Amino acid sequence: MPEQKFLCRSCGREGLRPILSLGTMPLANSLLPDLQAASNEERFPLELVFCPACALVQITETIAPEKLFREYVYFSSFSDTMLRHARTLVEELIAARRLGAASLVVEIASNDGYLLQYYQQAGVPVLGIEPALNIARVAQEERGIPTLAEFFGLDLAERLRDEGRQADVIHAHNVLAHVADLNGFVEGIRTLLKADGVAVIEVPYVKEMIDHCEFDTIYHEHLCYFSLTALDRLFRRHDMFIRDVKRVPIHGGSLQIHAVRASSSEGVQSRVTDLLSEEADWGVGEFDFYRGFAQRVETLKAALVGHLKGLKQQGKRLAAYGASAKGCILLNYFGIGSDLLDFVVDRSIYKQGHYMPGVHLPIYSPEKLLTEMPDQVLLLVWNFADEVLAQQSEYLKRGGHFIIPIPEIKVV
Ligand SMILES: [Zn+2]
Repeated sequence: MPEQKFLCRSCGREGLRPILSLGTMPLANSLLPDLQAASNEERFPLELVFCPACALVQITETIAPEKLFREYVYFSSFSDTMLRHARTLVEELIAARRLGAASLVVEIASNDGYLLQYYQQAGVPVLGIEPALNIARVAQEERGIPTLAEFFGLDLAERLRDEGRQADVIHAHNVLAHVADLNGFVEGIRTLLKADGVAVIEVPYVKEMIDHCEFDTIYHEHLCYFSLTALDRLFRRHDMFIRDVKRVPIHGGSLQIHAVRASSSEGVQSRVTDLLSEEADWGVGEFDFYRGFAQRVETLKAALVGHLKGLKQQGKRLAAYGASAKGCILLNYFGIGSDLLDFVVDRSIYKQGHYMPGVHLPIYSPEKLLTEMPDQVLLLVWNFADEVLAQQSEYLKRGGHFIIPIPEIKVV
């Protein structure tokens, strides 16, 4: 692996150690419009490494953000779970920080306005920042959320600050892991924040990924995989500190941190010091914690492929649910294609009619489960299992089954 010269995205040091190699993978969100597009589909290395100096887990390949995020297919509002989570969080913050008509809430990677809409409904001014042009347009035109279709970084933060538009609250959910210039991004957050403001940041938690074998959350959009230990070191390097932390059951298990400027009068909550010392006990900051992950992924692969092949030999018909990025990684890395599955279904009308990257399975609407009645359906969006099973109660009632692949195979 070419890691010798790779420098840590957070602390800038050399000497990163390999955890898992997924070989080369297609871009997990680049659904193909037709099968002709398959002939010039690109693949890129996907290697997970650990920085012994600052504890950050990261991948070595950086794909240009223009290529990944200008036309993005993930619309947050399609998930009921995400909407409920957003609404509760907004209500808590409005009350706790006494937000009103004179406040400003900025969300970085604001998607279709799924979160900011709840502030706007409560009369709190908002600004969305969303580089995906198609999604920014939906936020602006259909939801009336003021949205800048730009990438966030120190330059944009300085421009907004100079225009007098500093924020009381900055939201950055599931975006920090996407950022190549991690230090510029955090410096930008500090710059855009009012002196007594708070940044609410959610990232998938690396501890959950390792414990639950969630290797399919590793894809090119996700450059970093955070622990509180690694986050704390990153924010302290930029004159900020993490004053509160919560573990939230989103995207297979995430950390929600509340970061403030070093000059803030707010103190560090015991939840932060407690989790930091728990992480020290678990050894999250040491390479040994990540040893053995690659072997567990191989064991899972053998079990799942064996299960599917066994069903196929009995003449069973199989499909998959969820044309997600994680689904793309799982199917491609495990080599599960049209020899085992007939098709993939997804609720998003933006994905239907397209093909899965790499394995080139067609994507249809979930109604196809009822018209075709496959015997078992591989649930690629296992993180939304409860929601999908409830929506697909009719398929289950008629005798269908779902295979939940992660953390271990379960047929329901
Ligand atoms: Zn580092």
